[in-house]
Amino acid sequence: MEWTEGIVRSKRVWSHGLFTLSIEAPGVQPFEPGQFLQLGFDRPEGHLHRPYSVASPHGELLEFFIVMVETGQLTPLLWQVEPGSSIDVSVKAAGGFTLKKCPDASTLWLIGTGTGLAPYIAMLRRPEVWQRYEKVVLLHGIRHATDLAYQDEIAKYSEQWGSRFAFVPVISREQVPGALFGRITNCLVDGSLETVTQSQLTTESCVMMCGNPDMLDEMEKLLGERGLQRHRHSKPGQIVIERYW
Ligand SMILES: Cc1cc2nc3c(=O)[nH]c(=O)nc-3n(C[C@H](O)[C@H](O)[C@H](O)COP(=O)(O)OP(=O)(O)OC[C@H]3O[C@@H](n4cnc5c(N)ncnc54)[C@H](O)[C@@H]3O)c2cc1C
Repeated sequence: MEWTEGIVRSKRVWSHGLFTLSIEAPGVQPFEPGQFLQLGFDRPEGHLHRPYSVASPHGELLEFFIVMVETGQLTPLLWQVEPGSSIDVSVKAAGGFTLKKCPDASTLWLIGTGTGLAPYIAMLRRPEVWQRYEKVVLLHGIRHATDLAYQDEIAKYSEQWGSRFAFVPVISREQVPGALFGRITNCLVDGSLETVTQSQLTTESCVMMCGNPDMLDEMEKLLGERGLQRHRHSKPGQIVIERYW
């Protein structure tokens, strides 16, 4: 892996252990919204690094939306990082979780759990998403209202795009006004997801899904029952997935 030095310019804490690092790393090569970079540190026992979706498009400071995994190896170190700290960033981004790999459709569903919101923030900041899709639905599955992030920015898209954009937080462990209660999968089955977004999940949709593997597997099964399949170059479908673990 080829590394370049990044300098942390700011750290925004959304709640304990949930944060965004903004990093200046001019050595990073151009990338597409939705791709990931590696972040890490050189340590005596070897280089410790993990992949992170970039939450900003190329040309801005690199943003990473990260949750500290208490038992994890790298994230407790990332949580301690402060502005001015140096961090290794991979020179080249990777990954096919991009709009380029998505089929055309009338509605684009952006479904993420936890920090799986990150790639969508990068996409929403660029015009392509609004040029290619009539309607964009953003679903954010989280446990508690304190896991909400990027709310000011998302509110601006709602204001700017009106009925062309729907944002729905789906909160599993507490009932919160303005949010759906439960898991994304349950809200699909009971119909509430489509009612509140005023959109249908059909074969006319493109569905991007990112984050927790259980959500991805269950959603893929439920969507499969509606005839939606993985989108592949050789066999067009509707679903594009990024697994975080
Ligand atoms: C393509 C890709 C993009 C990723 N983008 C992000 C991102 O934008 N933000 C981010 O926080 N993580 C992201 N991850 C996960 C990240 O690479 C690390 O796995 C995570 O930060 C944990 O690292 P660690 O060394 O602290 O834990 P490890 O010691 O590696 O432990 C890994 C365990 O942590 C848990 N875990 C991993 N990621 C998460 C998560 N995001 N939320 C909750 N639990 C998790 C799982 O149980 C996993 O088995 C991404 C992973 C991939 C493959």
